[in-house]
Order: sequence, then structure tokens, then C-alpha cells
Amino acid sequence: MITASPAPAQLSPADWRQLWREAVTDARELLALLGLEALAARLPPDDAGFALRVPRGFVARMRPGDPHDPLLLQVLPQLAELEPAPGFVRDAVGDLGARAAHGVLQKYAGRALLIASGSCAVNCRYCFRRHFPYAEEIAAAARWREALAHLRADASLSEVILSGGDPLSLSTPKLAELTDGLADAPHVRRLRIHSRLPVVLPERVDDEFCAWLSGLGLRKVVVLHANHPAELDAGVAAACGRLREAGATLLNQSVLLRGVNDDAAVLAALSERLFEAGVLPYYLHQLDRVEGAAHFEVGDDRARALVEALRARLPGYLVPRLVREVAGDAGKRPL
Ligand SMILES: *Cc1c(COP(=O)(O)O)cnc(C)c1O
Ligand code: SF4
Repeated sequence: MITASPAPAQLSPADWRQLWREAVTDARELLALLGLEALAARLPPDDAGFALRVPRGFVARMRPGDPHDPLLLQVLPQLAELEPAPGFVRDAVGDLGARAAHGVLQKYAGRALLIASGSCAVNCRYCFRRHFPYAEEIAAAARWREALAHLRADASLSEVILSGGDPLSLSTPKLAELTDGLADAPHVRRLRIHSRLPVVLPERVDDEFCAWLSGLGLRKVVVLHANHPAELDAGVAAACGRLREAGATLLNQSVLLRGVNDDAAVLAALSERLFEAGVLPYYLHQLDRVEGAAHFEVGDDRARALVEALRARLPGYLVPRLVREVAGDAGKRPL
């Protein structure tokens, strides 16, 4: 009998690519991991057209046995996604009309957003991109040339925003290729990265990444995306520490989500925990009205009341700005 010898350990246990590949993609498996098998009867067919994906480290922050866990609700496909909801559309933020070059969205003065990648480590059920053809729109690979040429040529741009999808899904050498392409664009003074990876897969903030970030001759801003304090464990706090050591200013944006964080105590705890990790709350977004996400919506009056309640209990710098994205506006619209 031939027994296979164990494969040599080529990857450390914390290699982020391996953790990415090992993400849970089967809703039944996710429910089984949490002891919630009974909920399987209420899963929508075909994940309601938007695949489930969630890293195991994020699953570990969920409360077993709790069908209302705020982290679970953000990733679990629900039958409610299939219910028609007037006003909830496929292109909820007018992205398809804001293309300045292939992979570049330019909606606001001085800032251009580069769709650097089509993929995410986690698929958030409320996400506006659940129907957006980002997979075809990514500025990656050969098409980067066009996007970079556009950014170099427009001297009105002082900030380049890497977004997606999740830009940190790209390898660090790929990111370096991108910033090398901006080296001869002196008008670009700031690089902003919008990413949920430091929260859902903090192992992504590895030494190679931090060396790239700290070596950039640009001001650096990293905007995280956390919606609930339970997302922020010690691993996330450590990743935030590494980002700050690399010279990044850390901000967070959240989406206001019914059943997840539409509660003043939860939002206050989120702000407090962010600050402990060296992160300032930036935006609290009203949900983009995307098809399949209506069950997460919180009314504007209730949203304003929640932020008022935050103002009453937190220092001003821990109160995020409540905004909505409105197609055609010159910036995010304050509520
Ligand atoms: C949200 C967004 C920005 C950034 O807006 P800020 O208010 O500066 O955070 C830039 N470009 C696009 C296309 C956006 O959607
Ligand atoms: S773009 Fe952000 S909100 Fe949307 S699925 Fe990816 S990580 Fe989640």
C-alpha cells in the first residue's frame, strides 16, 4: 500500500490567500457550523442569484445558535431577497453612467475611483454591486494602462481611490504595479483604499503589504468597512495597528442595516471599539436601494433619530456622518 506523505508546509497557517480559498461558500455548511441546520429550509434557491461567501475567521465571530446574529444576517441568503420591492433597482448608485475611462468612476471633484478588482472576500447581501458587472469592468491586467493614462492626464485629480470589489483582493505586487503607474503623476497626492478585508480577513494586512504601503510617497488613507462591534476582534485591531504603523490614516464606513446595527447602543459600541483600534468613524450610509436588499432598509427619520442619539452619548468625533449616495450629486448627500 502506498501512503501519501504529508505535503510540505509551504504556506504558513495565516497565509491570506489560503484563508481566502477556504472561505465558506455553501449556505448549508455555514448553518451547520453555527448549529442552525433548521434554517436551511428557508434558504432561497440558488442563493438568490448572489453567491454566499464568508471567510472562516469571520464565521468564528458569530454566535453559534443565534439566527439573528448580526454578522450572520449580513452574509446569509434570505428568501426576503426575492420579494419585489418598488424603487429597489439593479444599478442603485448610477455607476454605469459615471465611467471616465475603463475601470475609472469619476463622480466627485478631485477624486477618481479605480475599480481595481471585481472580487471580495465576503459577499455582503446588502451590497450595491450584487448586480453590477464589475467582473467585466475591473481595471486589472492589460486594461490598467487605459485607467492609469487617464489618471495621469487629469491634473485636477489629487486623490486616487482604490475600490472594487475589494482592491486588497489583488496581490501586493499587483498593487505596486498600480502605484508605480502613478509615480509620474505629481498631482496625485493621496491614495485612498476602500476595503473590507482588514475586517473580514485581517491576515491580508501582512508584512509584504505593509512594506508596500509605508514605502509610498503619498498620503495614505484606508477606509475600512465594519457595521457591528462584534466584527472587530483582536485580530482586526492588530491589523489596524499595522496599517497605522505603515502611515495610514484609518477611517470606517458602515451601512445602516435593519436588524444588524439599527440601534443606538450598537452604533455607539461600534464607534468606541473602532476608536480603540485607532479608527475614526467616517460615514454611516443609508442603504443603496438595490434589488434584493429592501429588507435591510431603515427609514430616514429613524436613521436621523439614531444619529441624534449617538450625538447625545458620544464625543463629536465618534459620530459618523449619515449620508446617502444620490446619482448625479457632487458628493455623498448628508441627511
Ligand atoms: C463615495 C465615492 C467617492 C468618495 O467620496 P468621499 O465623500 O470623498 O468619501 C469618490 N468617488 C466615487 C465614485 C464615490 O462613489
Ligand atoms: S464591495 Fe464591500 S460591501 Fe460589497 S460585497 Fe464586497 S466587501 Fe461587501
